[in-house]
Amino acid sequence: VKKIAVFTSGGDAPGMNAALRAVVRTASYYNIECYGVREGYNGLINDDFTRMGPRSVKNIITEGGTILKSARSLEFKTKEGRQKAYENCVKRGIDGMVCIGGDGTFRGAEVFNKEYGIKVIGVPGTIDNDIFGTDNTIGYDTALNTAMEAIDKIRDTATSHNRIFFVEVMGRDAGFIALNSGLATGAIGILIPEKKDSIEDLFTRFERAEKAGKASSIVVVAEGEKLGSIYDIAKATQAGFPDYDIRVAILGHIQRGGSPSCADRVLASRLGYGAVIGLMDGKTNMMAGMQSNKLTFTSIDEAIKKHNEMDQELLKISEILAI
Ligand code: ATP
Repeated sequence: VKKIAVFTSGGDAPGMNAALRAVVRTASYYNIECYGVREGYNGLINDDFTRMGPRSVKNIITEGGTILKSARSLEFKTKEGRQKAYENCVKRGIDGMVCIGGDGTFRGAEVFNKEYGIKVIGVPGTIDNDIFGTDNTIGYDTALNTAMEAIDKIRDTATSHNRIFFVEVMGRDAGFIALNSGLATGAIGILIPEKKDSIEDLFTRFERAEKAGKASSIVVVAEGEKLGSIYDIAKATQAGFPDYDIRVAILGHIQRGGSPSCADRVLASRLGYGAVIGLMDGKTNMMAGMQSNKLTFTSIDEAIKKHNEMDQELLKISEILAI
């Protein structure tokens, strides 16, 4: 490859900037011209390209969000939109793209490659950790730590007032943040979309907690939990336990923000570097990932279609330790 474009797309995640920095600097090191595209696929369509060099990405490794901005582009889902994007790439002689984002971003990249042949490599940047082919996605570790710190604070007030807190964390289709932050904060219950929960199971836990002398409790709920909304679950619990003082807290977008953790900066640096190396090796339609501490490439098709299994042992441990 001689000229590459890089962009961030879909939901933003802490560490996207670190990944961008790695892509730009690795490209520069190997004498590849690099263009940053603003607002994901929208920038490809609207011809929003900027030539980037090592100094364009100074001081961004510490920053959350994405300096290129991210977007969800409806137009790129149309043939006409992608045609415009292709024409803009041709105009500059772009022959490779690094697409930092989640599964939707990868799907778009794959469609674009199949239609026009420009080489594409995906870099998994999403807090949800729901991408196959990498042990962790960029942003997940930071989001997890943010959730953990917030739940720790909620625990202080829960304990002071003998309250039951239902805390919702992000993860529409994946319970990784919920399971791990719940385990790390000693939640008595963790409700995730991957596990079939019933309200009776939850009640049994409360009864057990009462018998064990617990006066306050935290239940962590993934936003995609199938039992219903967190308010429905809290209401049902209140009906079952009228004496409880129940509160609901939704952590929301604080989980996306903030300076990336060390683990996310290192991961982003390795994957950004890996993506450029992959393009130089002639790879396309692949996602760079880290598996067992090694750089790996997984076909985008597989990365989108398969799912990382929820660790059953972790689930069991969280239950054993919550007695
Ligand atoms: P997150 O996991 O954080 O939500 P994401 O990358 O999955 O991130 P999406 O909004 O699903 O976020 O996808 C990003 C963009 O990718 C979409 O706005 C759209 O422009 C493009 N895209 C998604 N699916 C397709 C598709 N089938 N064809 C073309 N483009 C697509």
